Amino acid sequence: MADCIFCSIVDGDIPNHTVYEDDDVLAFLDVNPLARGHTLVIPKEHHERVNDLPADLAADVFATVHDLTDDVEAAVDAEATTIAVNNGPAAGQEVPHVHAHIVPRSEADGGKPVHALIDNPPEVDDDEFADVAAAIRDD
Ligand code: 5GP
Ligand code: ZN
Repeated sequence: MADCIFCSIVDGDIPNHTVYEDDDVLAFLDVNPLARGHTLVIPKEHHERVNDLPADLAADVFATVHDLTDDVEAAVDAEATTIAVNNGPAAGQEVPHVHAHIVPRSEADGGKPVHALIDNPPEVDDDEFADVAAAIRDD
């Protein structure tokens, strides 16, 4: 897609440090890493959000995340990784081309878990749990 940074990377118009590539998926180092080895995994085809991906391409992207996680951790001697997708602008997505972050982590990095994303999580009672679960199932 015109004006998409990640499409430009796929097209070879913006240089990058590629760590994996096949016909459908590209993985490369984040230019502003949160940690050494911070890797982005993208579908080569432009789709904005996870919800927009065809199921087989979603599977390909996650399979690549799966295959690369050990390699990323080993390359930078990380104890763990945070694997995350900012899915839509309201969730902090800045580049509107689906990408999974693989961020190497250690006990000493001062980083936080996913549960630190929200300051004031809701208190949900059993009825609400049931309603929300039903709404998701029925959608
Ligand atoms: P988002 O906030 O959309 O989840 O993350 C976008 C990520 O893309 C950021 O971590 C940012 O550093 C990275 N990024 C933005 N532009 C470029 C670029 O031109 N090259 C690379 N390698 N990463 C980029
Ligand atoms: Zn794109």
